[in-house]
This record gives sequence, C-alpha cells and structure tokens, in this order.
Amino acid sequence: MKTKFIFITGGVLSSLGKGLAAASIGALLKARGLKVTIQKLDPYINVDPGTMNPLQHGEVFVTDDGAETDLDLGHYERYLNVSMSKKNSYTSGKIYNTVISKERRGDYLGATVQVIPHITDEIKACILSLANDNPEGAPDVAIIEIGGTVGDIEGLPFLEAIRQLRSDLGREHVLFIHLTLVPYLSSAGEHKTKPTQHSVKELRSIGIQPDIILCRCEKPISADLKNKISLFCNVEPDAVFSDVDVNNIYEVPLYFYEEGIDQKIAILLRLPARNADLCGWKKLVQEYTNLEHKVKIGIVGKYVEFIEAYKSLYEALTHGGIANSASVSLEFINSEEITPKTVDAILAGLDGILVPGGFGIRGVEGKIEAIRYARENKVPFFGICLGMQCAVIEYARNVAGIKDATSEEFNPNAAEKVIYLMTEWYDYRKNTVVHRDKSVDAGGTMRLGAYPCVLSENSHACRAYGRDEILERHRHRYEFNNAYRSRLEEAGLEFCGLSPDGKLVEIVEIDNHPWFLACQFHPEFKSTPMNPHPLFKAFVKASLDNRKN
Ligand code: GLN
Repeated sequence: MKTKFIFITGGVLSSLGKGLAAASIGALLKARGLKVTIQKLDPYINVDPGTMNPLQHGEVFVTDDGAETDLDLGHYERYLNVSMSKKNSYTSGKIYNTVISKERRGDYLGATVQVIPHITDEIKACILSLANDNPEGAPDVAIIEIGGTVGDIEGLPFLEAIRQLRSDLGREHVLFIHLTLVPYLSSAGEHKTKPTQHSVKELRSIGIQPDIILCRCEKPISADLKNKISLFCNVEPDAVFSDVDVNNIYEVPLYFYEEGIDQKIAILLRLPARNADLCGWKKLVQEYTNLEHKVKIGIVGKYVEFIEAYKSLYEALTHGGIANSASVSLEFINSEEITPKTVDAILAGLDGILVPGGFGIRGVEGKIEAIRYARENKVPFFGICLGMQCAVIEYARNVAGIKDATSEEFNPNAAEKVIYLMTEWYDYRKNTVVHRDKSVDAGGTMRLGAYPCVLSENSHACRAYGRDEILERHRHRYEFNNAYRSRLEEAGLEFCGLSPDGKLVEIVEIDNHPWFLACQFHPEFKSTPMNPHPLFKAFVKASLDNRKN
C-alpha cells in the first residue's frame, strides 16, 4: 500500500484545536509536494451533524456532494484547498447504521454481530477507502482525526480500529499523533505535564503508543520539559512539540514547520526527504498581519453569540478582508433586539450588513427590519440563504406592496408565501427529479450540496465572479416561489442568478444601491484564505467604499 496513515487523537480536554492541528499538518505535508487527504471520525451517534443544534456542535459544514459534516471539514478545505466529500466524514451513527443494515440483509451469515470485529472492521473499511477507492488515485498521506477525547466511552471502537490498523499495515505506514494540553500554572510559574502523562497512559492502556506528542500551550515549552514528557510518555525527545497560541490561525502551518513537525513525520513514515514550499503561507500571513484598512460589518442573526455556529462565515469575511487589505471587525447583532424603533440606533455606524442563514421564525422580523434599513440607507447588504429569503420578503412587503408576504417556514397557512416549501427539484448530480414528502422533516431532507447557477450579465454577482456560470453549495428546504416572480420583477427586484433550467432563484439584487446581493446558497463554504470567495471580496470592498464615502 502506497498511502501512509496519520491518526490524530486528543487528550485531557476538548477544544484544543485538533482540527486546526490536523489541517495544518496536512497543509505542511502538501507543501512538501505530497498528495494529502483528511478524514474526521466522530464518535457521536447522530448519523450526521445535520440534525444537531449549531449552538451545541457548531456550524454544519456542507460539501459539494451534499454531505452535512462537522465544521472541521471546513478547516481541512481552507488549509488544503481541496474539496471534501461524504467519504471524509463518518460518525458512530453512520457506521452502526451500515452494520445494522448489513445484519438485516443477512450479510453476516449467522454470526453474532459485535463491536469487535464488526464495528471495528467497518471503521477500518471507511479509513482504508480513502486509499482504495479514491477516484483521484490513492493519496500519499491520509490524516485521520478522531473526534472527542481519549477516555470517552464512545471513542473506544475507533481507537481499537486504529490500533488494529497499525498491526495490519505496519509501523512505516501508520503514525499516531496525540494532541494534549500542557497548562501553565502562573502561581507555580511552570508548565505542568501530569495531565499529558495521564492521557498517554490512558491511550497506552488500550494498546496505542503515540509516536508524536503535540503539546498545546500558551507559550513554548522548554527542552527540559520536552525531555520529561519524552521519558514519562515513552516517545523520542525530538518527537515532543509545542503547539502554542498564535495571533491568527493561518500562522499554525508556519509554526509547525519551525518546530520541525513535518521533518519528524517524514522520518517516521519514511516519506521522501523534501523541503516544504511555504511561500503561499508566508505571503498570506504577511498580508494578514499588515492590513491597511478597517471595516465594520454587522452580522444580524440568531446564534451570533456563539462563534462556532458561523465558523465558515467568519473565515470567509476574513478572507474577503485580506483580499482588500482590510481588517474586518464584526459586530454581532441579535436580530430579536431589532424593531422599527431600535433599528437606526443599533445599525448606525456599520459599513456593511450581513444576514446569514438560519432556521425558524424567532428573530425573523428583526432581520427583515435590518434589511429594510440597509436597502433604504444604501448600506452594502449581503443576504445568505435565510438572509435571501428575508430580503425577498422585505422587498415584497415594503416595495411591491404584498403586505402579508412571508415564508411557508414561518406560517404554513399564510396567504402570501413568497418563499415556499419545494417538493420537487432537479438533482443534477443524480440526473433525476427529486420528490419530497411534505410531512417529513428529518435529517438529510434538504436541498444539499453544489448546484449550478447561471448569472445575468451586468449583475454584481457576474462582475464579482468574472464568469456567468457558477457552482455553489446549498442547505435549505424552502425556495423562492415563482408565482411572485413577475410582480417582484416589476417592482424592481432583479433575479440575477437562476438554476440552468430557470426554475430556481439563486440570487437577487437591487438596482440603485451600491451593493445589495442575496443568495440562496452558502458561498462561505467555498472560501479559502488562498482563494477568497468573490462575493465576500466584493462585499468587503463595497463596505470599505461605503466607509470611505
Ligand atoms: N430555513 C431556511 C430553509 O430551510 C433557510 C436555511 C438556511 O439558511 N440554511 O430554507
């Protein structure tokens, strides 16, 4: 087997930045000229995170092929500049689902179906599929991040599976990296290694001896301390690395390079000796740390207090900022606080306003009010998914005179559903028409993944993209209702982006406004620091121009 596997586990506590570490290691190895892929294995029982509240689990990231995944896949795409797919994300739920279906089909021929070997075999098959049936050919390196923390009950089958893979494939093909916390106790004036020792002990008790220990710490740890960790945890002294807090997350690959992490990985996995070409990363960090302008953007939404819920959105705005040499300061505005009385005071002083995606009626009237404010006061406005639906409702009510305009999501019995539930659409990936049962509101029933969209000439969108056909990712149930298209068009709403068959509205804009664009898809999922998304770039530019005026 050509592919080498790197497994990343986490110890002590969650939120240590395992996803970023995995993505940064991937970026470094890619910079050495290797073909790299990454996979996330999540121990929770949900089949995918699509049914989870973003306040609990953060953003649901969507891939081109329509998988609803953990937000770490967003990091992987942003750091590796490659498109992830369903095969890059598995949960316990998905794995058990497959095993149970096989059992029902009689595939196990009378065997008692057990965690070992049936669940572990299925996990191993998911991991090996990265190498075996990859249409783009087997990667040189596959990085697999195991979600959760070592010691969690749910994680055991995954750890057992990777333990077995080391025996199956051999030392030169499998590497274990353990990310742990080395806290600094200011009262004692020193870093503490005990939590790391315990976490590694736990890992070794299930048969996994880490090869590399990455120590998350506030400041770099000393050589003495690395030696101590090496001794107590049974790893080579030059295999203990610091993973310090950095100013911005795109510095991590450079920091890891300075630490020599890729060198050590290359030696342990017998990868070709090459130097990483980090010009692109250096240039990015250089630009990011020397931004000339400032721009203030208001995000009017419901989960605004929880940064993880809009991860890709914040990143995409940062990328759009870097592309304009602007530092984007974000103001999070709870839409429930916006009323016709408070709107002027709350939104005054913003250079641009963005209404992101969301679900449910709570806070919707505030979003609509914010959009009216942006439209009338000519403040650059960017609406995404629910943000577009609200923009249509606002225009219908306040410009086209359809006073009761709303969405079927907010009132299924409303008379004027300008946004309605789509029960049928053309799935270009499967080349068939998809039908939806209105009574089913469960996981995986939305319009998901990348769909093509044709842009009208002379639109903000067409100018931003510099082409007239695009492919963007979706995650929604409701859609613009074509019964209202001509009335809204007559009232001045411009339908600038449509599905190739002309049936689905993907982008609306208005004239006589510096920049007002709302899209049904989620452009934030496709923005990367090296390739900032055109719409975010254009929106930040418009906001910057607004500030200067
Ligand atoms: N709730 C809306 C829908 O399902 C919008 C979804 C979203 O913003 N992602 O259509």
